[in-house]
Amino acid sequence: MPELPEVEQVKKTLAPHVVGKTIKVVDVRLPRLIQYPSAEIFAQRLVDQKIESIERKGKYLRLNFGQNLYLLVHLRMTGALLAVNKAEEEPAYAKIKFELTGDEDLWFTDIRTFGTLYLIDNEDKSIEGYASLGPEPLSNELTIDYLEPICKKKSAAIKGVILDQKVIAGLGNIYADEALFLAGILPQRPANLLSKEEIVKLIKAINHVIAQGIKNHGTTFRNYQDADGNKGDNVKYLFVYGRKGEKCKVCGQELCGLKVAGRSSTYCAKCQR
Ligand SMILES: [Zn+2]
Repeated sequence: MPELPEVEQVKKTLAPHVVGKTIKVVDVRLPRLIQYPSAEIFAQRLVDQKIESIERKGKYLRLNFGQNLYLLVHLRMTGALLAVNKAEEEPAYAKIKFELTGDEDLWFTDIRTFGTLYLIDNEDKSIEGYASLGPEPLSNELTIDYLEPICKKKSAAIKGVILDQKVIAGLGNIYADEALFLAGILPQRPANLLSKEEIVKLIKAINHVIAQGIKNHGTTFRNYQDADGNKGDNVKYLFVYGRKGEKCKVCGQELCGLKVAGRSSTYCAKCQR
């Protein structure tokens, strides 16, 4: 599933193709992907809208049209936004076509069809999960003064706490497992039992894994691709995610797997406490 670094990479690769282009026709082939408003109104309102800029907030992409009109896209499991030359064949699993001015069209493709799109008039409109997003990694807001009181109040597993988008925006299973490994903290540890020093380490580790993921153009595990159809390189830098049963790159011990907060989690019982 695309997490913050992958969505950031989609934003970066998409922008040069679509910013400044105007949407001419919208062909919604799977209406249920449009969460708000109806697919018909969605398609109608986007006609003749010029894409002014693209931003990312957490795992959401936001295409800005000016006059407070925004298209929010959440890729979920396998969603992708692709810029494809009009002369080329349409991409596989095409679900929505945004016909643009210029040589290329914008396509939303989705294999498992969990992706969600919203056309909203005001950024602050309470789209579930968007309005309540917590601070971003690598931002000045993700500090020990912010995270420590949250951890102290929660007896749930620390992994579940950092996966909560209301607590930190943009982390998913890959970067949560990697950050906990780097911080030396077991994913199942109750959040309220972490020391201040451990929370400081965890924030540093989160920032590190996110920055590295962005630098390596994201992690492609199965389906993720950027707007040019390229995969990310970060998988070779992963310490634990997807490596259950393999040897820890630091101590050599076999990595363990466990379900934590409903998510499969991989960790090193020796390097993490
Ligand atoms: Zn280890």
